[in-house]
Amino acid sequence: MEKRALLKYAYDCTEFYKEKYAGIDLDGDWGNIPVASKGEIAHGGISVISSKYFSRLGGPGMITDVTSGSTGECLEVHIAEAEQKKSLLSLWLYRKKYYGIDTRSRLCYFYTFRDGRGEAFFEYRKNGLGFLKSRLREEHLEEICNQMYDFEPEWLLLQPGVAMVLARYLFENGLEPIPGVRYIELTGEMFSEEQRKFISRAFDAPVASQYGCNEVGTIAYECPFGHLHVMEHNVYVEVVREGSVAGEGEYGNILVTAKNQLAMPFIRYDTGDVGRICQVACQCGKSGSVLELSGARKNDMVTLESGEMVCASLFCRVFQAIARRIDGRIFQYRVEQLGINEFVVSIATDEREEEMETLFRDFIRETELKDATFRFAFARYLLPEERTGKFQFFTNHVSRSIYG
Ligand SMILES: [Zn+2]
Repeated sequence: MEKRALLKYAYDCTEFYKEKYAGIDLDGDWGNIPVASKGEIAHGGISVISSKYFSRLGGPGMITDVTSGSTGECLEVHIAEAEQKKSLLSLWLYRKKYYGIDTRSRLCYFYTFRDGRGEAFFEYRKNGLGFLKSRLREEHLEEICNQMYDFEPEWLLLQPGVAMVLARYLFENGLEPIPGVRYIELTGEMFSEEQRKFISRAFDAPVASQYGCNEVGTIAYECPFGHLHVMEHNVYVEVVREGSVAGEGEYGNILVTAKNQLAMPFIRYDTGDVGRICQVACQCGKSGSVLELSGARKNDMVTLESGEMVCASLFCRVFQAIARRIDGRIFQYRVEQLGINEFVVSIATDEREEEMETLFRDFIRETELKDATFRFAFARYLLPEERTGKFQFFTNHVSRSIYG
């Protein structure tokens, strides 16, 4: 279905969109169609479900997935199995084309605790071996890696934070890459070019980025030439800035309209991510929309003394600048704002701690946070948050928005 047909379908089949679009001309300018937020949809309950699917909910052929925001709130997503398959079709085509990976290839992945899955530390499903993410602790790394060696996966589907921890474990212990792994897909968070190289070297396999969310599935996939191509068969993507559609190359909030999610329509759905769309004729043979993500989410905002909010990507820039000046590596970092002008910076690095601190203070002085106080915590590994399973690179404890 094209976006206009999807819009009308959502209006006709759900109470949520019928109410949301009351008085709106559905044939009018697309940019005037109201944006749907995660919070609204999470509170919408059954009203977001298409009436055509009511009788099938919870039955065979339907999948329920719970997705959590950065602050831990949950959104229950209902998907028809057949539609989920359709939504993944192009992704599988590209995995096959570039890396020879198909649905039968042996896979290792990490999962967060979900209802109905029990509390097992790992699970064997079809041709996959999954590990519970909260198991990712230093004392279990040897065991996890041994299980992976025994399983002999052909590819790994990992969050960049998980991949960094595993890559370091292999690298620093002088372990061989896992034989047979010929592709690593990173998803769920941003990662830097340095992190990509490190992971690729430790596992001796190419790394590609897949951008998506549980709600709509895959949104964009990186080709071997480094472009994050929009998966046009699955989503319609747009970028809005201060309420209007952004111009080409302008950064703003990424909205998606799902083409294969009819059980629970997502129309102009705000992903919470910030990025821009460029039109690229790529060497891979694909031309069209390419996404560039800013690295921070819409809610990753730092509170300044004046009450003003600035994007936390300023820390990404500071760490990029530091990385260029040191001989060692910054494996991971995390910044928490505890109060106005009060921050804790956690870093996993093999660089001298004093050197890191000095450089950080030098570079931060050139930003809006020149008067702030920073405390440093050096950790061997930065691990996912127990509650959400996420690696938040920035958390603002001063003003937390409800939905991330
Ligand atoms: Zn390309």
